[in-house]
Amino acid sequence: MSQQESEQSDRKKYEFRKVIEDLKEYEGSGTQLVTIYIPDDKQISSVVAHVTQEHSEASNIKSKQTRTNVQDALSSIKSRLRYFDTFPPENGIVIFSGAVDSGGGQTDMITKVLESPPMEIESFRYHCDSEFLTEPLEDMLADKGLYGLIVLDRREANVGWLRGKRVEPVKSASSLVPGKQRKGGQSAQRFARLRLEAIDNFYQEVAGMANDLFVEKRHELDGILVGGPSPTKDEFLDGDYLHHELGDSVLGKFDVSYTDESGLYDLVDAAEEALADAEVMKDKNLMQDFFKELHAGDEATYGFDQTRQNLIMGSVETLLISEDLREDVVTYECPNGHEERTVIDRRKDTPNHTCSECGEEVPAEDGEREDAIDHLIDIAEQRGTETKFISTDFEKGEQLYDAFGGVAGLLRYSTGV
Ligand code: ZN
Repeated sequence: MSQQESEQSDRKKYEFRKVIEDLKEYEGSGTQLVTIYIPDDKQISSVVAHVTQEHSEASNIKSKQTRTNVQDALSSIKSRLRYFDTFPPENGIVIFSGAVDSGGGQTDMITKVLESPPMEIESFRYHCDSEFLTEPLEDMLADKGLYGLIVLDRREANVGWLRGKRVEPVKSASSLVPGKQRKGGQSAQRFARLRLEAIDNFYQEVAGMANDLFVEKRHELDGILVGGPSPTKDEFLDGDYLHHELGDSVLGKFDVSYTDESGLYDLVDAAEEALADAEVMKDKNLMQDFFKELHAGDEATYGFDQTRQNLIMGSVETLLISEDLREDVVTYECPNGHEERTVIDRRKDTPNHTCSECGEEVPAEDGEREDAIDHLIDIAEQRGTETKFISTDFEKGEQLYDAFGGVAGLLRYSTGV
C-alpha cells in the first residue's frame, strides 16, 4: 500500500467513524430504522427488488406510524439506489434510513449512504430495528492490521490471514507422519528416523504454504502468529522453516488445541493481548519520537494553531491527530480584515468572536465552521504531509489528547513556530 493510499484510507476511516458515531445516537420510537449492507457483487436491481418486497410486506405493520415510517425509509432507500450502476462500487454500500426521534415527540427522516467501506462487505443484510446496525462497519474500522496465521500439529496445519477483525482461512495440509506406535517387525531406530523425516517434511510443507502466502506481502504484514500444541509449534519455529525474511515478523507463539480452520480463530483469541500491543506499537513509536523532539530537539510542534502554521509552511513530516478528537474549527474575519480561528467541541454552538487584534466583534453566524481534522488534513494533503491517527489506549497517546489539544506534528526541520 502506498503512502498516498494509506492516508486516504486513514481519512476515509475517520469520515466513517464520524458518521457511525452520529448514527449510534439515533433511536427510532418503533422498529423503523432500516440498515442495508450490500456487497459489491450484488446487482443493484436485485436489491431494489428486495426493498420493494419489504415495502409491500411493511403494509402488514399494525402501528400506522411505524408502518408509514418504515415505508418512507424504504422509498428513500430505493431512490438512493437509482444513483448507482448495475453493481455497487468497490467493497459495497451501506445505507441507513429511518425516522429518528428528534425530541418532543417529533421525528426526522434521515438517510445516509456510505460507499466503499475500508473492507469488503461479505454478505447482503437487511436489518430493521429501533437502532441502526453499525457493528459490521465498526468491526472494519477497528483495524488490527494484516497478520499471517499458522496453526499446526504433526497431523494437520492451516494458514490464513487476519485482516482487521476478520479471519480468512486460505490453505490447509495434512501429514503422513506415522503415529507413535510402530508396526511389528520394524526396528525402533528405523521407525524413529522415518518418523522424524516425515515430521521434517511436513514442517517444510507448512512453511512452503506460509511462505507462498506471506513473503509477497511481507511489507504490508504487521506480524505472524503461530499456534499449536507444544512442542510442535516450538519445533517448527526453532527449526527455522519459515523464509528468513519472515522470521522477524513472528509476533509470538500461542497454545491452541485445534489445528483445523477453527484453530485459526482460536489463535486470534489466544493472541488478543499481543495483537492489542502490536496495534498501538506504531502509535507508541511515533509519540516517542514526538516527546524526544519536544524535550531534546526542536522538530516538534503541537496545538491546533501552531501545527496548522507549520503545515502551511510545509515543514510537517507527520501530522499526529488523536483518534478521540471531536472538534470543529471556526474561522472569523473581523471588519478590519483580521482572520482568526477558534477550535470548539463539535457538539457546542458556534460562539461570537472578539478580534484579538482590534477588539471588533464578529457574530457567530459570520464564522465559517468546519471539522477541525478535515481542515488540517486538507492542508496536509496539499503539502505532502503524512497523517497518523493516534489511539488513546496508552499513556502518551492520552497525553496527546489531554495535554496537547489532540494535534501535533513531527517536523522536517526546525521552524521556531
Ligand atoms: Zn480585527
